[in-house]
Amino acid sequence: MWGDKRYHTLNYELRKIFGQKVMKLSLDGGFTCPNRDGTIGDKGCIFCGEEGSGEFAGCRYLSIKEQIEEQKELLSKKWNTDKYIAYFQNFTNTYSSYDDLREKYYAAISEEGVVSLAIATRPDCLSDEVMDLLTEINEKTFLWVELGLQTIHESSAKFIRRGYPLEIYNKAVEKLKERNIKVVTHLIFGLPDESKEDILESVKYVGNTNTWGVKFHLLYIQKETDLYRYYIKKPFPIFTREEYISLVVDGLELLPVEMVVHRLTGDGKKELLYKPRWSLDKLRVLSGIDREMKIRSSYQGLKFQSI
Ligand code: SF4
Repeated sequence: MWGDKRYHTLNYELRKIFGQKVMKLSLDGGFTCPNRDGTIGDKGCIFCGEEGSGEFAGCRYLSIKEQIEEQKELLSKKWNTDKYIAYFQNFTNTYSSYDDLREKYYAAISEEGVVSLAIATRPDCLSDEVMDLLTEINEKTFLWVELGLQTIHESSAKFIRRGYPLEIYNKAVEKLKERNIKVVTHLIFGLPDESKEDILESVKYVGNTNTWGVKFHLLYIQKETDLYRYYIKKPFPIFTREEYISLVVDGLELLPVEMVVHRLTGDGKKELLYKPRWSLDKLRVLSGIDREMKIRSSYQGLKFQSI
């Protein structure tokens, strides 16, 4: 239904819009996060590493222009494309002064070949001033904003030290939608004490927000994080590859067909990843998902229900 996939991939969507493969350039805007600098919390989310959940982003000591040039150069060895998404990935990319944000966003979208801007942030970091800036940028490029929700369940949100209640996410989604800004929500599968039903409730919820996209992340444990220290003291069950694949397919069935699926796996760095090590073989996970969907005669939206 979506090229050779049974779910609505970002790759499919971008090819439809831009007529060719569009590659992501992961940038580090040099920002921090209110959940780490003491404003909301000083320890960060429990799974967050030193690089602010963006282990593959460019180097924060380079300018945006330099990072873009460096990443284009790296990608050109593997991919033949001249269209790019500038992706502000790690830390909180709307958490700075208006002038700083404006300068960095414009620096990114002014680079040759950059046809889109993606900004990962927290829903509690979208002031009216920032919203006005995003609205302006949205008129100039193909913009989307990614929100790290992870779960709709308050007890899990407390455990991961997310630092805001679900209501804040709801308000941010409404504000962004009012301004026609595309929203992508991140969810994590595998948080301790969440059952399969709990995880699928979060998927159903996000599937009913009438937003543009979603990312499913596998909870992985990275060394030197508080989650790692917690796990060592108090181990909790971690999905096997087969369990994860089956749950992802359950989740895809619950999404509306229009929702664009940006990611279905975790993305840990090999040297930092503690568990599960099987997550390093992303291709195997993705082909397992394809296989499982085929076996089930399944497709995205098969079990979608409005709530
Ligand atoms: S909001 Fe993002 S950058 Fe901030 S602590 Fe949580 S995962 Fe890390």
